[in-house]
This record gives sequence, structure tokens and C-alpha cells, in this order.
Amino acid sequence: MMKVYEHLRHAWRYLGGLIAAILLLFQFQGCAEVPITHRKGLHLVPETELLSMSLQQYDEVLKTSKLSTDTQRVEMVRRVGNRIAKAAEAFLAEIGQQNKIKNYKWEFNLIEDNKTVNAWVMPGGRAAVYTGILPYTQNETGLAVVLGHEVGHALADHGNERMSDALVAQMGGMALSVALSSQTQQTQQLFMTVYGAGATVGFLLPYSRLHESEADRIGLTLMARAGYDPRQAIPFWERMNKQEGKSRPPQFLSTHPAPETRIADIKNYLPEALPYYQRSLK
Ligand SMILES: [Zn+2]
Repeated sequence: MMKVYEHLRHAWRYLGGLIAAILLLFQFQGCAEVPITHRKGLHLVPETELLSMSLQQYDEVLKTSKLSTDTQRVEMVRRVGNRIAKAAEAFLAEIGQQNKIKNYKWEFNLIEDNKTVNAWVMPGGRAAVYTGILPYTQNETGLAVVLGHEVGHALADHGNERMSDALVAQMGGMALSVALSSQTQQTQQLFMTVYGAGATVGFLLPYSRLHESEADRIGLTLMARAGYDPRQAIPFWERMNKQEGKSRPPQFLSTHPAPETRIADIKNYLPEALPYYQRSLK
């Protein structure tokens, strides 16, 4: 009897070691730090897979959407987008995380769709702005709030984290193998629910409050570095919130739920961002 017990204990210790080793590997491969907040999130989907999915989806979106022919507006979207992108590159280089976006190829397109109040940036830097959000952004600075926030989600790898959390929740132990085998239907499906890029997707996964506040914080810094007044984020979100509940909430708000504390949080983050804006004016 004693011997069996010894065996079991031995096996248990061996198994424990194995699990620890796997967890360590997991942590090493699957976690990356969020800029500014230094939080570590779970990132199970390999970057190469995420980028190829986003490329594929982006092509599909461009093919099936009507691109705006209003050159002035299109140029404005690209100008703001590229300034935010440059600020993101400079910011990451400064904190030694430039590798995070080394495979990015920024692209900003304006989609003619007045009913869609939305904008997003996919991993890899492909972005879309829908004309429906322009009445809320009102000007270049307002658009910089939106694109700064969206690029903030991308830099923080929130897409990968949402997919990873959903994978773990849905498939438990199978998550890792599913995520690692490339281009599976499940991961592709998840990508669509996270980015809402496909026209047929009915269910969109909203960002969590934590992700929202991280994207706000990173976004304020990016827009300020790009030379846009970050204080304008407050009136933008006020315009957005006023619209909520009037009829159907805009798509942008259903994927970016506004915490009641958003405006207060933004006021707290402003002292961190404002000096960059003031420096840009000199
Ligand atoms: Zn958001």
C-alpha cells in the first residue's frame, strides 16, 4: 500500500513539474506587456496568424464596401491616421517596444456609409473610418480622438487578448492547440466577432472596461504627440454619449461601451498627455 502511495506521489510531482513547465512556456510565449499601463494580457493567437487574418478580412471589407470619393475627407482621414501612426511608432521606439509593430503596414480608408457610426484599426495597422462617425468627430481633432483610441487598442493587443479569453472560455484545454493550428474556422470566426469586419456578423464582442480605459489612456498620449489637443477627447465622448439611448446606440458605442467613469478617467490621464501636445506646438 505504501509503495502505491509513493508511486502516486512521484507521478504527481512529475505531473506538477510538467504543468509548471507548460505554464512557464505559455507565459513566455503568450503574454506581452501593454504600453503605459504595463499590464500583462494573454495572447494565444500567433501574430503571423492574426496579421494574415486581418489582411484577408480587410481586403474583404474594402471589396464589399463603397469607398468614399470625397477626396477632401479621404485625405483628412489619411492625414490624421498617418500622424497618429507616426506618433505610435515614435512612442514605442522610446519605450523600447518597437518590435510590437514592426510588421505593421498602416492603411486608412474612409467608407461611405452614413448609417454606420464606427471606426476600427485591425492588428497590422489596417484601419477603416465610416462616414457615419464624422458628424460626431466634427473636425480633425475629433477624428484624432477616435483613431488614437483605436490605435491604442491595437498597440495594447486587445484584439488578441479578447480572442484568447474567448478561446479559453469556449474551448478550455483545447484552446492552445486550436489557436496554434493556423487559420482554423474557430479563430477566424472569433476574429470576426472581435472586429465586426464581416457584414454577416450579428454578434460583436465589446471591449471590456479595462480595455476601454487603456485605449483611452494610450490614445490621449498618441493624439497629443501627433499635435492634437487631447482635451478635445472630453467633448467628443460627451457628443457620443448624448446620442446613446436616443434610438439604437451607434456601433462604435456597442463595441466600445462607455464606462460612467470615462470622462473622469480622461481628466485624470490628461496631465500625462498634455505636455506632449504643448511640446508639439513649439
Ligand atoms: Zn475602445
